[in-house]
Amino acid sequence: MAYDINTYRSLTAMEMEFQKIETNRGNTGLLCQGHKFRLERKAKTYTSWQCTTKGCLARLKTDHEQENIVWSRLDHNHDPVSADSVTRQILRTECKRKAAENLTERPSKVIMKEVVSKPDTDLVPKDLIAIRQAMYRERRKKFSALPKTRQEVHEALQHYDITSNQGE
Ligand SMILES: [Zn+2]
Repeated sequence: MAYDINTYRSLTAMEMEFQKIETNRGNTGLLCQGHKFRLERKAKTYTSWQCTTKGCLARLKTDHEQENIVWSRLDHNHDPVSADSVTRQILRTECKRKAAENLTERPSKVIMKEVVSKPDTDLVPKDLIAIRQAMYRERRKKFSALPKTRQEVHEALQHYDITSNQGE
């Protein structure tokens, strides 16, 4: 049962709602009630998250799978981040996910689709460039796992029981 550490009452469904986001540095973060949280510590049974605003003591704990909030202290000493910055972050996260999922679609096309689906997002060209770069980075991460040398390719094919002409 999740509860508020200040009042010891159980949390409402709305208070337990959160969204996973990707931070600007490419780490997983949480968005809860308009506030951003970064990973603080992964324990055996839970993961704790701290508010990204310096000096703010707000914290969250999710279960180990990061699916449910199991504890929270949401007394922020500042205002929530702007709704616009939140939408931007979600859009960025979505675009990166799609870039990794579908390696052939042009990033600019993916971005345009996302922007059209979120018409109230106020994006400037600088944002679009940053998102596109993040998408390329995401794809490069994927590609770095692919075999590079001829020998590696040969081994990979053998693994899948496909013959390759190594002498070629
Ligand atoms: Zn805070």
